[in-house]
Amino acid sequence: MSTHRTQKILHILYERLYRSIGPLHWWPADFPFEVIIGAILTQNTAWTNVEKAIKVLKEKNLLHPRRLFAIWEKTLAEAIRSSGFFNLKAQRIRSFLRFLFKQYRGDIALMFAEDTGILRENMLRINGLGPETVDSILLYAGEKPVFVVDAYTKRILLRHRLISESAGYEEMQNLFMENLESDVRLFNEYHALLVHVGKHFCRPVQNCGPCPLRGLKLNTPVSRRQTPARRASK
Ligand code: SF4
Repeated sequence: MSTHRTQKILHILYERLYRSIGPLHWWPADFPFEVIIGAILTQNTAWTNVEKAIKVLKEKNLLHPRRLFAIWEKTLAEAIRSSGFFNLKAQRIRSFLRFLFKQYRGDIALMFAEDTGILRENMLRINGLGPETVDSILLYAGEKPVFVVDAYTKRILLRHRLISESAGYEEMQNLFMENLESDVRLFNEYHALLVHVGKHFCRPVQNCGPCPLRGLKLNTPVSRRQTPARRASK
């Protein structure tokens, strides 16, 4: 399938979703550091549990890099208990904070002033931060043009034959980043809309009837094995 056709399909998909659902105005947070902590806390849990943990951190006036780094890991774990896997997540938040203070003197703005490709590579080395978490931080906290994919994205793309079963994170990300304009607002809304569809319609047992993507069928997968991700520059 030609690149032109892939581009067209991805735009049709977005337009359908945006007209029916959007805009969703992600990420639900007041400032970048809150987005970062939320992105780590949301691993393997429902967002409602993250909201409770964020509320506790706010009440304790801990949603600040220096103040959060100053408390014991056990105290942090207790504060984020509602998010599940709280000991593991406390370790991961501490790992991110160690990185932030070692590389960027604890300054979030300085961190995001880094070249996006270099920052992404470095963040992927932080213990417990995989590509979905890192890309969520880059897009939603740093406003960098990096597309986020997740299990919802894969299920929707697979069911519409836009990828093959074996497609991994990079391949799915490349599908969007190589066929859409490098636009933070577009990437922001697109991912949020796909998550919405995955949660409300494209569940393990799909509910196509009311879904905005009903009838969007293709005969052949558009995805192909591609070169390593073209990383956006800042
Ligand atoms: S619910 Fe049906 S129409 Fe909607 S994305 Fe899933 S497969 Fe497509």
